[in-house]
Amino acid sequence: MNRKKLIIFTDIGDTIIDESTEVLAPGSELVLRADCFPGAKETMLHLYEAGFTIVMVADGLVQSFDNSMKQNGLDGIFSAKIISESCGERKPHPKMFQDAMDAIGLKSKDKRRIIMVGNNLKRDVIGANRFGIRSVLLTWSPRYNYEPTEKDMVPDETIKKPEELWDLAIRLETELEAECAGNKH
Ligand SMILES: [Mg+2]
Repeated sequence: MNRKKLIIFTDIGDTIIDESTEVLAPGSELVLRADCFPGAKETMLHLYEAGFTIVMVADGLVQSFDNSMKQNGLDGIFSAKIISESCGERKPHPKMFQDAMDAIGLKSKDKRRIIMVGNNLKRDVIGANRFGIRSVLLTWSPRYNYEPTEKDMVPDETIKKPEELWDLAIRLETELEAECAGNKH
């Protein structure tokens, strides 16, 4: 299988997992189980099977993501998992994104190959924009404000539902391939 040039960093909560379905351990923030948004699991598996590199960049407990990703059959799609509990910082802190790059051996020049997909302007979008990678806002969940209130909050791309990530990834991959071939126009 040909590895794609585009690298997909992704948030989990309210990006792949519908947080309104989360079942928590009593008296704890540990997620025992949770369901994916319609189309999210299929889209992520499709991207993985097509050769895109996918890295989890998520705030929460390591065990929460183990539980929800295993339950939904997505545990194996990630080349690395950067989770705030083990990272020691939360998005938008640059360490989350730098650790993700380091985990799969990317250098500064590779930043142009990376998108960060998430639902949260103040964490995912600001974090990606300030770090210098492309930000993709997913506006599926009705529980968030998607109006940027400062310049750093403006996403590079916006998608309304998980399935649209496939078309976006293919478009960006085509652009990266054209650049590499010296065919930029
Ligand atoms: Mg989220």
